[in-house]
Amino acid sequence: SRLGAVELGPVIQGALSLFGNRLREEAVAVELALRDSDPDSGGPLRVRAEEVRLEQVLVNLLSNALDAVAGAPVRRILIRVGVVETGQGAVEGEEAGAVRIEVRDSGPGIAAEPVGQVFDPFFTTKPVGTGLGLGLSISYNIVRDFGGVLSVAESGPGGTAFVLTLTRA
Ligand code: ADP
Ligand code: MG
Repeated sequence: SRLGAVELGPVIQGALSLFGNRLREEAVAVELALRDSDPDSGGPLRVRAEEVRLEQVLVNLLSNALDAVAGAPVRRILIRVGVVETGQGAVEGEEAGAVRIEVRDSGPGIAAEPVGQVFDPFFTTKPVGTGLGLGLSISYNIVRDFGGVLSVAESGPGGTAFVLTLTRA
């Protein structure tokens, strides 16, 4: 397999840079809370992944977040990276020492019940021709191939948060 140790910071910056124009045009505020050093080695934070496919997952999540905040009264996207500590609010599938990447938006929340349907292939609530409904299904499978977990951490009128947990490398 092409799985290796991928430096996380540049991949997030790379994904984000693709949306520069749209973020400006739609006046979306992006907040980054990135932990970029490894708590043990002090070196750059790396995860077990394949760089191009990890960037694809982040692009999918950011593109959905942008769609969600477009037209919302508050337009904010927060990207937070942390290392999971023992017993500290770890969600299912998260192990101590894993890397947790959260993409949170101030959109209207997921219009599906149960919310897990968003990972089904071809599930979309977007107008025909704009969304194929494949982004999250593909992303889910990519993250699973990395040995990680992609899940909805929160969804409601205050917004939506997707969490991507990966093995630290
Ligand atoms: P698409 O974006 O083509 O619709 P996705 O697989 O990326 O396909 O997403 C599937 C559906 O999940 C979306 O149509 C939308 O209903 C819902 N969804 C995904 N991300 C968000 C989000 N951040 N906020 C609200 N709904 C979302
Ligand atoms: Mg999408």
